[in-house]
Amino acid sequence: HTHHCKEYDSYARIFGLETEYGVSVTETDQSCDPGQVAMMMFAPVLSRSRTTNTYLENGSRLYLDVGSHPEYATAEARDPSDALVQDLAGESIMRQLVDNAQAQLRKTHGPNATIHLFKNNADSAGHSFGCHENYLVRRYVSLPAVNHQLLPFLVTRQIFTGAGLVNEHGFEITQRAMFLEDGVSSSTTRSRPMVNTRDEPHANPDEFRRLHVILGDSNRSQWATIMKLATTHLVLCVIEDAAKRGIDSGFEACSLSNPSAANQAMSTDLSCHRPVMALENIKLFRSAQQRFHANSSTDCDSAFVRYERNVQISNAETVSALEIQYLYWYIVAQFIEKHTGEIQASLPETSCLYVLNEWKHALDALNDGQIASLSDRVDWIAKHQLINQMSKRNPMLSSVQQREIDLNYHDITNGTIYPSLVHHKLMNTLVSDDAVQQALTRPPADTRAALRGTFIRCALRTGVSFSCDWTHLKTTVPVHGEAEINDPFDYRGDAQYAGLIESMKRSEV
Ligand code: ATP
Ligand code: MG
Ligand code: MG
Repeated sequence: HTHHCKEYDSYARIFGLETEYGVSVTETDQSCDPGQVAMMMFAPVLSRSRTTNTYLENGSRLYLDVGSHPEYATAEARDPSDALVQDLAGESIMRQLVDNAQAQLRKTHGPNATIHLFKNNADSAGHSFGCHENYLVRRYVSLPAVNHQLLPFLVTRQIFTGAGLVNEHGFEITQRAMFLEDGVSSSTTRSRPMVNTRDEPHANPDEFRRLHVILGDSNRSQWATIMKLATTHLVLCVIEDAAKRGIDSGFEACSLSNPSAANQAMSTDLSCHRPVMALENIKLFRSAQQRFHANSSTDCDSAFVRYERNVQISNAETVSALEIQYLYWYIVAQFIEKHTGEIQASLPETSCLYVLNEWKHALDALNDGQIASLSDRVDWIAKHQLINQMSKRNPMLSSVQQREIDLNYHDITNGTIYPSLVHHKLMNTLVSDDAVQQALTRPPADTRAALRGTFIRCALRTGVSFSCDWTHLKTTVPVHGEAEINDPFDYRGDAQYAGLIESMKRSEV
């Protein structure tokens, strides 16, 4: 049965961020592997909920699969800033687990034993792990549309969202470029696709898809986390609108001939200027550029689309990441100019004009060679600048030492670099510590995560045994009961849900 919620036709979005962490341990008396440490971290979780896969009062999922990469998946959020706050709450929860495990470890493995928890995507053994972005997208957006119209954006946005990586080739913009293969794929095991479309929408499948973006890096910068979600949201709005009307979005011109080659090429071009990417149809791209060039120069009063003095239209057969990003920016800016009210209504907190301006500012800074001016918000630039400064002071700085700086930047438990940047106001923050503190126990109020949160809080208080996932809530002892929460936008709950909560309260002992 399909029921039509009003969000189906609007631009409202659901965002979710999954973050996998890397574990390592140093300064122990006797050897101890990361898998053991991860199990120690999850011992309290295991004793509390009898499993290492659990949902928390703030609506999130905390889990440890086989291996040594603890994961935190945020509750569903309607706004990028909520997703950020929930993700930071996840960092905080991981820190508590590490603090506890480290105290245990020091009893058996020496007083200096230190656990490092990395919010990054590549370990020293050459393994890659993920930061997944989840976007609820209207079903009428086809998979080829994702491949041709979204993927070029996802690859090139990394010039301002990449986390940076020191590796044997030097420095790269992104952590995962070398690991990713196909563009869009629905298989999960055979390859590492950049966007996974395996069909688990956690919502009405007739209305929605859940887009599962795998190619992005984990970010420490709060600005980068918000901007990657917010800019992707705006691009998706344009794609959805075009799909609904059966017209071109304009992004077709950016379709890449080989997405994973393009991803690797952009990652190693620290200038972001070199024409390193081949497109399926370069003529289409050049003529789209011309059109925007012409349009925007006659329209210079517009607050949105200003004439861009800097963009020289070249006649090269290949394009740079910046060129692609500028075209996306122009198309999105024009779209927002036409649909300001509706698009702003899709974001409860974040201003879409702010996003548009920040995005443009970042592109202009990269384009004008003012890369250093972005070191207070772009992770790869912050890290690269730091390594350059240290190399100047110490010309003998080895690649091993550079790699240590890299890892320190991502170490959320014992890392010193990132907190020091924040402390000295060299790195921007956008949300308060209080907001993060509250998010430890409070889900976003305007999605079904609020229902899940209330359910879990009630179960913990009443002592009722429960289980749940993104779309189901269940109680077992002393009463059997269940409720479905299939609409991610519904934060009020239906009669079945109300009944479940009532029955739990009644069975309180
Ligand atoms: P894996 O860990 O194997 O990649 P997965 O991506 O299917 O699995 P989870 O780790 O459970 O799943 O994380 C799901 C994420 O999707 C969460 O962040 C959650 O908030 C988000 N989410 C849940 N429902 C929706 C939805 N309908 N649309 C978009 N995101 C959703
Ligand atoms: Mg996951
Ligand atoms: Mg996932």
